[in-house]
Amino acid sequence: MYDVIIIGSGPAGLTSAIYTTRASLKTLVVAGGKWGGQLMLTTLVENYPGFPEGIQGPDLMLAMRKQAERFGAEFIDENFEESDFTKLPFRITAAGKTFEGKSVIIATGADTRWLDVPGEKEKIGRGVSSCAPCDAFFFKNKKTIVIGGGDSAMEEAIVLANFAESVTVVHRSEALRASQIMQDKARKNPKIKFIFNTEVKKILGDDHVTGVELLNNKTNETSKIDIDGVFVAIGHIPNTKIFKGIELDKKGYVRVHDHTRTNIEGVFVAGDVHDSHYRQAVTAAGFGCAAALEAERWLRDQE
Ligand code: NDP
Repeated sequence: MYDVIIIGSGPAGLTSAIYTTRASLKTLVVAGGKWGGQLMLTTLVENYPGFPEGIQGPDLMLAMRKQAERFGAEFIDENFEESDFTKLPFRITAAGKTFEGKSVIIATGADTRWLDVPGEKEKIGRGVSSCAPCDAFFFKNKKTIVIGGGDSAMEEAIVLANFAESVTVVHRSEALRASQIMQDKARKNPKIKFIFNTEVKKILGDDHVTGVELLNNKTNETSKIDIDGVFVAIGHIPNTKIFKGIELDKKGYVRVHDHTRTNIEGVFVAGDVHDSHYRQAVTAAGFGCAAALEAERWLRDQE
């Protein structure tokens, strides 16, 4: 029997684990088959406090994990499968095993949002990607596009430009949504070009990406361009579908009732799985801390 079961191992889950274990609560982290969350797919993180020169995303996550392990957090690197929050103790199933917990912190983050256009799904890994730090290397001297107008799109474009021959940011709107600093970085890069008011309607190619079909949503003109790689950076979808009985908001994020509490007593939430607004590593870590403190208080009140 665990005092706290934490589902997810990004900055939110790992910070929760550091706090719960330091409060002497027996803690299990269901870390997922690919532990560490979105930062494992990032390169240099320059805005996490405490690292004046920046830190590589995976290094930051490893340091957080080691810190939690040092205080006694147990980890299973398996995917979460099922939850039963109908009665105490709560039951969590992962890799066919069921674990019991007096409280739960949901910190499952959010996954890539795909375009959902013809030719996309079957070419993921064959020219379609959502992670430039992971895949940019394969596009050395190739022609690529990045779809989206937010910070993620700018970041993808900048990373890709280190390898690709050309990077065109294709954005459906008139203006970028990205922060000024990220826009400036991308605009300064001679390899990065921008196309506005344009949507990707189809990804072309049989086995591999060979081009895309575009629609200018102002003029209704369609066009085709030849490219080798498509990087999709249009936001994320919260990982909440699997939780039965947990109240969600209209965008599918966990609804927070009061200080990281969900609609179920004893089940708390932290990070991108409930926060569609800030979505920063440091805010996720802050929410992780808050959820752990709330769980600790709640457990104390139960005694
Ligand atoms: P955002 O929600 O900020 O941006 C998503 C972009 O994708 C928007 O430009 C949107 O267009 C576009 N889009 C959404 N759906 C579609 C679609 N179906 N077809 C085409 N385009 C679409 O997401 P991000 O992932 O960029 O950023 C999320 C958060 O993470 C932000 O708060 C951001 O600041 C933060 N972040 C910070 C980074 C950093 O500081 N280094 C790096 C990465 C993210 P439209 O504008 O028209 O709505």
